[in-house]
Amino acid sequence: MNEYDSNRISDLVQKIGYKKTESLESADCYILNTCHIREKATEKVYHDIGRLKKKYRNKKKPIVLITGCVAQAENDEMLKREKYIDAVVGPQSYHNIPEILKGIVKKKTKVNSTEFDVIEKFDKLNTLENSESKVSSYITIQEGCDKFCNFCVVPYTRGTEYSRSLKEIIYEAKSLVSNGTKEITLLGQNVNAYNFKHSKKSFRLSDLIRELDKIKNLKRIRYTTSHPNDMSPDLIECYKDIKKLMPFLHLPVQSGSNNILKKMNRKYTREYYLSIVNKIREVSKNIEFSSDFIIGYPGETEKDFLDTIDLIKKVNFINSYSFIYNRRPGTPAASLDSIKNDEQKKRLIIIQNLLQEIQINKNKNSVGKFKEVLVENKLKNQTKYFGRTQELTPVIFDANKEDVGKVIYVEIKKYNRNTLFGSKITSKKEAAA
Ligand code: SAM
Ligand code: SF4
Repeated sequence: MNEYDSNRISDLVQKIGYKKTESLESADCYILNTCHIREKATEKVYHDIGRLKKKYRNKKKPIVLITGCVAQAENDEMLKREKYIDAVVGPQSYHNIPEILKGIVKKKTKVNSTEFDVIEKFDKLNTLENSESKVSSYITIQEGCDKFCNFCVVPYTRGTEYSRSLKEIIYEAKSLVSNGTKEITLLGQNVNAYNFKHSKKSFRLSDLIRELDKIKNLKRIRYTTSHPNDMSPDLIECYKDIKKLMPFLHLPVQSGSNNILKKMNRKYTREYYLSIVNKIREVSKNIEFSSDFIIGYPGETEKDFLDTIDLIKKVNFINSYSFIYNRRPGTPAASLDSIKNDEQKKRLIIIQNLLQEIQINKNKNSVGKFKEVLVENKLKNQTKYFGRTQELTPVIFDANKEDVGKVIYVEIKKYNRNTLFGSKITSKKEAAA
């Protein structure tokens, strides 16, 4: 989502005469877009500013803006602690950046813009064409969260759930496709909670996917991140008949233990999660799942940990993110006693080894197979091309520049943990031979 936001910030400031530079030494304005999900982010901001100060020691100071969730959470604190910062701008206020920049240039005052103006933000962004011209692009369709998991800062930094207008999303999608986009990933903190109400009608994620399916030159549709409780039957049904909807789903479970799920306030059980996975597999036989795991949550026993291992083995996730529980001030879990850091680390290694083993095995099984790959770009300073399989696995392969933006077949010859390697084959017939 921050990548999407950064691109939109770039579109906004272009309107007042700024353009992106590759050279950090020659910027008039430096915008650091931040994430606050784990604690290191805040300190990283101060380190980055330290590096910036060194670079500009004998030069004119650039205007420095901190945007995103760290700005939202720390706001005035940042302006007080680091005088080099000119403004802090929360994720729901970044549509104000052009005005903020103009104000700083004119009045040289410090600015704190951390209101939750999500409706105003999208009203403003909707008037501005998304200039992205990548084969694979993002569109934010939903923001914020009403679920309040006990460990998470998102409801406090991104605010309550908000769904963008279906019409505006389709407009943005069509404009991206006319710029060359072939794959769209719909984004939201809880993307499948998407619920846009208009003239007494309610439009869900499934409605949006069905509308996107009608865009002729769009080849692939994805969405992330989904909450297990919002995997409604209408959404699952989409996997039956929408060929453009890719057979890959990031569905974070966080823990395989009912005891921990309850302590986290996730509001589902492991049995429910597994039943959803099975339902989706019934309609989409070869679908692959990935997940997020929080390891060493307060109160996690050896038995809870083993339940997570058991769930991983049952689902056989294609890849996953796993993190040691990170105490976030202001969240309900922050007051709980943490378990020993040594134990957390030990468990994280066991989980990561298991996830890695499954991922490597899946990649190994792809060798000799012909995978459908959307060609995204040529690799920098190399002759090879980059793309992804339907299941989102990165592939590096030999192809031609005319293939960029096309879905081709790649024969997989080698693999490592994260990536498959191969060569383009010219036709399905060759694949069948
Ligand atoms: N809404 C999504 C869901 O509930 O599945 C997740 C969105 S959250 C921005 C991304 C991931 O960050 C979570 O799935 C969780 O694993 C991780 N995360 C959030 N808070 C955390 C914390 N306090 N410590 C460790 N990991 C955390
Ligand atoms: Fe955070 Fe996701 Fe829970 Fe919302 S549902 S509070 S974003 S982990």
